[in-house]
Amino acid sequence: MLRATYGTNRRVKILKGISAAPGISEGIVCLYLSEAEKVVPHYSINSEQVSNELNRLKEAFDTAKQAMKQMIQVAGRQGDKEAAEIFNTHLSILNDKNLWTKVSESIKTNKINAEHAISDVFEEYLNKYENKGEHFKELTHDFIDARNRILGAFDVETGRFKCPVGKRQPVIVAVKALTPSMVLNMAQENVLAFVTEEGGFTAHSTILARSHGVPIIFGLDVEKDLDCGMHAIVDGSSGKVIISPDKKTSEYYKRKVSDLEKRKSVCESRGDLLARTRSGARIKLKLNISTPGEINIVKELPHDGVGLLRTEFLFTKMDTAPSEEELYNMYSGILQGISHKPVTVRLLDIGTDKLPLYFRLPRQVNPDLGLRGAMAVETFPEIYLTQVRALLRANVDSNLRLLYPMVSDLGDLKTYRGILSKAKKTLRKEHVKFNDKDIKEGIMIETPSAVMMVEELLREVDFVNIGSNDLLQYTLAASRGNILVEKRYHVLHPALVRLLEIVVKAGKKAKKEVCLCGEVASFEEFYPLFLQMGLRSFSVAISRFSDIKCGLLYLQTSQNKDIVREFYKNKSREEIDKYFNLPVLVSESEEKR
Ligand code: PEP
Ligand code: MG
Repeated sequence: MLRATYGTNRRVKILKGISAAPGISEGIVCLYLSEAEKVVPHYSINSEQVSNELNRLKEAFDTAKQAMKQMIQVAGRQGDKEAAEIFNTHLSILNDKNLWTKVSESIKTNKINAEHAISDVFEEYLNKYENKGEHFKELTHDFIDARNRILGAFDVETGRFKCPVGKRQPVIVAVKALTPSMVLNMAQENVLAFVTEEGGFTAHSTILARSHGVPIIFGLDVEKDLDCGMHAIVDGSSGKVIISPDKKTSEYYKRKVSDLEKRKSVCESRGDLLARTRSGARIKLKLNISTPGEINIVKELPHDGVGLLRTEFLFTKMDTAPSEEELYNMYSGILQGISHKPVTVRLLDIGTDKLPLYFRLPRQVNPDLGLRGAMAVETFPEIYLTQVRALLRANVDSNLRLLYPMVSDLGDLKTYRGILSKAKKTLRKEHVKFNDKDIKEGIMIETPSAVMMVEELLREVDFVNIGSNDLLQYTLAASRGNILVEKRYHVLHPALVRLLEIVVKAGKKAKKEVCLCGEVASFEEFYPLFLQMGLRSFSVAISRFSDIKCGLLYLQTSQNKDIVREFYKNKSREEIDKYFNLPVLVSESEEKR
């Protein structure tokens, strides 16, 4: 059963991370160690040696810059714009006058060797960026790369495979933090997959690693859970690493790989077409976007629009609330960048998991069930007003769909609408240009209350999005992301399916779009059930888009089988997995052993 697979037992160990690139690979794990911190020589110098040390420093900087310039040229010749851009970032770090001053001052003042001073100053930068939020955290990998480049000029070994196989035969590369240089130094044919602790969907190293065409998973405790020589399967689509897979699991994945290969060629030949099932029925397949970097990828895919733009990123990244201009610039780029397709923008959805510091909330007894949705709008109206004004101004091509999160009833909807009309009123009064033509309004259905009120709510709005992630947690009273309770339930719990049925039926009656945008939509195995229930619109993460689209094309449905009724007959998580032909990797009884 799916949730149970995230546990461990004697034979199989399953690690769950975050998928950054899909695909399945099976092979031997090889740990890559970033040794720089441990092997940098540290020694003291006297006053007479300072000038010699400064000369050594200059030589190392010059060598590193020269190497970087060459790499930029090579990338340019190969037409690899992304790599060239990344190396330009590294070169600008090396050219930074502040950096040079800090390192040379450290040599003079602390009377230490150049390598030591470099390592200290970079450490300072890394600590600073580490604590400044996700965007800056990504920069740390560029800084590590730039530092290693200079240290490399002193012949300091800055990284190596712990076991010798990594350089000679294809392996699953496991590394705490992947840097762009590491990726480029590893021959493509020697890498089966990348698994890392740090990283991000849009990190520079991930962008480069993605071009290797192998699965990438980040968010794992690599040094604790993985070691050289382990046999593992990396399932990039679901973000799982299965260590010591049993025969049944291996066979399941072998079958999956062979099926994927077979259908890949057919899917590729229809790559530029919109999603359809085998029998030709059109299915709306949209994209979930959670970070700004994903926008560029979206432009290349044949999708039906953005089904969920999570707007929290701009708010959680900063120390203060973003200004209307900052938001306007960001939204203009997105709405005009995807101008020919509808873009569903969800208003700021604050919660305990995504709470900007400047919100300064009072201590809440039960924060998971605390201030969210419309209540947050009433508490921080100015923040929402700023966001809606920016969106109305950015909606030049009339492709904006407003999505209100955590709506439980008509009162909540009224609160959001109050903000919308105030935004229009104030913009009009200030003679600021905006566009509210054809704006569609929708709500997230992610509380049991919203399901119970869905008929009334549908009368008021143009569409609904089912947020199954929150709907599941609020239905089961089991906090999402808490492994203790998560592993008790199936991600497609029958209670959730019953709620989906209610919403789909109401949507049909009201003739309004019902889009499933929670994580359950990223399991292609569930689509026969979803389609038979009457769902025709889905929104999935970019990394799942092609697989789901291809899966739809190959979907085998039998008109004679009542999939939904059959599904309800399953009595346990294991039975549900079996029903969908998912691997039963760790059963409950095995876990207890
Ligand atoms: C959901 O709850 O299913 C959803 C899509 O929203 P989020 O994951 O951002 O809470
Ligand atoms: Mg949600």
